Amino acid sequence: MLWYAHMLIAAAAVSFYTLNPYLILLGALVAVVPDLDHPFGHRGWFSHSILAISVMSVIIYFFARDVALLITVFIALGSHLLADLITKSGIPLLYPAVKKSISIPLFPSTGRKTNKLAALIGLCILSLNLLASFGYFINY
Ligand SMILES: [Zn+2]
Repeated sequence: MLWYAHMLIAAAAVSFYTLNPYLILLGALVAVVPDLDHPFGHRGWFSHSILAISVMSVIIYFFARDVALLITVFIALGSHLLADLITKSGIPLLYPAVKKSISIPLFPSTGRKTNKLAALIGLCILSLNLLASFGYFINY
C-alpha cells in the first residue's frame, strides 16, 4: 500500500478507539513509519512484524508514559501490517517464529486503483465514525 492509503486506514482504525483528533492525526502519521525501511530492504522483519510494532509501541510508551498513546500507536502500526498483509507480496508478520512472508491476497494488485480504493474505504469509515460521534445517526 502507498502512504496515503496507510494514513487513512490508520486514521479510520484509530477512530474506533478514540475520536481525539490529535490521536487520530498521530495515528495517521505513525502509520507510514514501517515503510521508512526502504533503504534497508522493504518489508523486512524489523518493520513489518508483530514483534517490530510491539517494540516500537513499547519504546513510545517508555518515553511518553501514556497508555492512550501506546494504544494509538499500536493500532496505527497494526493497521499498516493488516493493509500490507492483504497484498500479494505479504509481510513477515510472525517473525521470528515464521520467517517467511505471509499474505492474504484480497486484492489482485497493489496498483494506484487499489490504493485509492483502500484510502477511500478508510476515509468513509473515518467519516462515519466522526458523524456518529456527533450523534448524526441517532433516531429520536
Ligand atoms: Zn508497509
